[in-house]
Amino acid sequence: MKVIKFGGSSVASAEQLKKVLAIVQDDAKRRFVVVSAPGKRHSEDKKVTDLLIAYYEKAAKNQETTSLIEEIAERYGSIAQELGLDVSVCEAFASEIKSLQKDFDESDPYILDRFLATGENLNAQLIAAYFQHEGVKARYINPKELGILVTDEPHNARILEESYEKMYQWHNTEEILVIPGFFGYTKEGQLCTFSRGGSDITGSIVAAGVKAEIYENFTDVDGIFAATPKYIHEPALIEQLTYREMRELSYAGFTVFHDEALMPSFKAKIPVVIKNTNNPTCTGTMIKESYDRENPNRVVGVASDSGFCSITINKYLLNREVGFVRRVLQILEELNISFEHMPSGIDTVSLILRESQLTPELEKVLLKEIEERICPDELEVEHDISVIALVGEGMKFHTGITAESSAALARKNINLRMISQGADERSIIFAICGKQERLAVRSLYYTFFD
Ligand code: ASP
Repeated sequence: MKVIKFGGSSVASAEQLKKVLAIVQDDAKRRFVVVSAPGKRHSEDKKVTDLLIAYYEKAAKNQETTSLIEEIAERYGSIAQELGLDVSVCEAFASEIKSLQKDFDESDPYILDRFLATGENLNAQLIAAYFQHEGVKARYINPKELGILVTDEPHNARILEESYEKMYQWHNTEEILVIPGFFGYTKEGQLCTFSRGGSDITGSIVAAGVKAEIYENFTDVDGIFAATPKYIHEPALIEQLTYREMRELSYAGFTVFHDEALMPSFKAKIPVVIKNTNNPTCTGTMIKESYDRENPNRVVGVASDSGFCSITINKYLLNREVGFVRRVLQILEELNISFEHMPSGIDTVSLILRESQLTPELEKVLLKEIEERICPDELEVEHDISVIALVGEGMKFHTGITAESSAALARKNINLRMISQGADERSIIFAICGKQERLAVRSLYYTFFD
């Protein structure tokens, strides 16, 4: 059987839900349907989850919430009405949305999670009601009943291993189970959500739990592109990828699929396919453990991300100082800062960090600690760095990829702040000046594609 997940824009309106029903009915194996909260219907629209956050914030400050409650309830009401469902469904929804505020207790660490999860929870109920209305044998199932147990980390939960066994009990279900994505329950019975965009994670863990033959993730694009359409006009669609290639690409800003969603499917060896609700006949992008063919592409994609900074520590005879890097990393650990890369030379070590982790104050503290405890000859910080990742399993079977790519960047006068290639030869990472990101992605893309 198959697990199928629909993202926010696929379940945002009655028109979209009709497509969803047609897709589910098209294949009798599609037995587990995971849904997001209604997303945007057009670019200026608001996601229900964002409305729920706004509602939470107002409720926390004891401000007027009536119009927000109405706005959220209306999102479901208008869909139900257009689908010809009984209005009583939505009256119950409105009072559920209202009741969130009644039990508001600021000291409760799970209170925000209850607001957040309401978007998915009501949508799954609405979609199950719609499926039944259309004569489909389907029902809503709560993640607790399904067996999704999670860690007690509010709005950042992780799955507990024992969930998989619990979920397997459902693998033979005759009915279609409509599952709200994005949350599970702690062992103490508290509702707890995954991080934002976490319905992808639910889909992946359900697929692993019920041992599905495939996890189909339906979104609003045809699949994963070899580069972002922001920089490349009509980039090539990637037909197949390995889990590891996908990780390398998502690391540097490919946002189609949640970062944490790949692991459960990967561990259970379940292929994941990314497909388009608005174009379901397109084959999409298949993510598997390995390639069916012998000769994988040298490069499958070029990813990039901005917002990095580099801290370069220079010290004469650094290579002779035992424990030097440990002391630098100790400072990062104490300040709770993670790093992405650490290129080094004989007398230098650089740290590439995500700037979003640093406030100006924290940056000052970090530099002061390095100055005092490491005593460098020079300490240099550079902001606004972009990271470009060139990814492909086939790299290790070809020579000259680094030469070709750095030559392409040199032709565009792009200075390389850092190059790094892991020993597994699946990716080459370049750090460059942020202003040149677009140019760099374009020059690399046209070197290896088209
Ligand atoms: N609705 C949640 C969010 O917007 C989860 C999801 O859609 O995956 O983050």
